[in-house]
Amino acid sequence: MIRPLYALARRGVWWRHGVLAGGKARELARWERRSTDDVRRVQLDLLRHVCTRAFHDVPYYRAALERDRGGVWAFRDVEEFRTLPLLDRSRLRSEGERLVATDRAAHGAAWDATGGSTGEPVRFLRSRASQAWMVANEERMWRWYGVRAGSRQAFLWGADRDVPPDEDERSLRARLLGQRRFNAFLLTDERCEFFARRLADFRPDIVYGYGSALRRFARWLGRAGLRVPAPIAIRSTADVLAPEGRELVTSAFGAPVYDYYGARDAGPIAGECSEGDGLHVFSDLVWVEILDELGRECAPGVSGEVVVTRLREHAMPLIRYRTGDRASWVEGPCACGRPFPRLRMEGGRIGEFVVWDNGKDVHGEYFTHLFYGVDGAVSFQVRQLARRRLVIDVEWDGGGFERTAEKVRRSVLAHLGEDDPDTVEVRRVSGIEPTASGKHRFVVGLAD
Ligand SMILES: [Zn+2]
Repeated sequence: MIRPLYALARRGVWWRHGVLAGGKARELARWERRSTDDVRRVQLDLLRHVCTRAFHDVPYYRAALERDRGGVWAFRDVEEFRTLPLLDRSRLRSEGERLVATDRAAHGAAWDATGGSTGEPVRFLRSRASQAWMVANEERMWRWYGVRAGSRQAFLWGADRDVPPDEDERSLRARLLGQRRFNAFLLTDERCEFFARRLADFRPDIVYGYGSALRRFARWLGRAGLRVPAPIAIRSTADVLAPEGRELVTSAFGAPVYDYYGARDAGPIAGECSEGDGLHVFSDLVWVEILDELGRECAPGVSGEVVVTRLREHAMPLIRYRTGDRASWVEGPCACGRPFPRLRMEGGRIGEFVVWDNGKDVHGEYFTHLFYGVDGAVSFQVRQLARRRLVIDVEWDGGGFERTAEKVRRSVLAHLGEDDPDTVEVRRVSGIEPTASGKHRFVVGLAD
């Protein structure tokens, strides 16, 4: 079921880890046939292994073990694991090399870095083995979407650094892998028109893109009264699509949308199955916790911060790593029968608050609800400019803006407990600049 050219590329272009990926893809398929209890048991083994190796090979963890536990570590259960300290981006930056395993060379690891969407770019190491697991996970996603490995993929990608210019379709890489990458960093109308033409020629099986880019392009298609050849699946990542954005994308492309959640530093985390009710954690690659602001496990349905431990990365283990993303657990098993627990993602990153002069802190998520189901709102961004000054930029399509703007302004003032009407401004803009990484941030707080 693997396209011959892709299979060749898997062996050739990705030779070192590509060959390994075949076995790893089969291993991941086996995990999906396990029972929930079995998954948890094997996961705990992997978790123990990651921690043990980190305490042995990584200076930062070795020092912590000596300092906090007298050099003794006996991993008995999850409770014990939860006593390990959290790791965040600033620590990753300040500790740098001390988080790298001393046998790094054995992992064939290479440095990579995140963009600035989190406000804190970090460098991290990625081993060949974990690269291979990522390739295997890509193949798993194709399987979930019902497309064969090596199907034609078009990327509407946001990050400038990942996709410098549009990929030349004659490039060897593009031809072997059956991929076309388009830079969706700034989606002007001209760019949308260009994509529409290229997609019509290329006829991809999967369109993979940033949620905000897909939504914007879908909206443009609707306005222009155009259609593109329907792919088998749309894969949306980076920004959470609100329900109406999802509907818009589904109907514009004539294909189902699947959410995918991963991060450069944290690796693949979760993906949506065809049931469309939450994202299954890739339990065979990552251990996920959802924690409240006091670091306690959140009950199902209660939102908190996603904290991950990579189960397959030993060159630079990330243990209890704070992603800054928000999600909640979905209760009960999924109708698809997969044994992996499910997350429900929420827009907004931890820490993006509007902190008002009267001591009122409003979480970024509040603002997303202002525009739910509001016809005309294409996208928006809330920026706090001073202790008592908030600007909401709205990209608006069609008429009726003033009425909505006034309504939004009044609700925000009331929510902030602010009497001076001039402190909040709602403006109509022609477009909203994405951040350097291409992700759309809907709240920019004072701290930024
Ligand atoms: Zn499912």
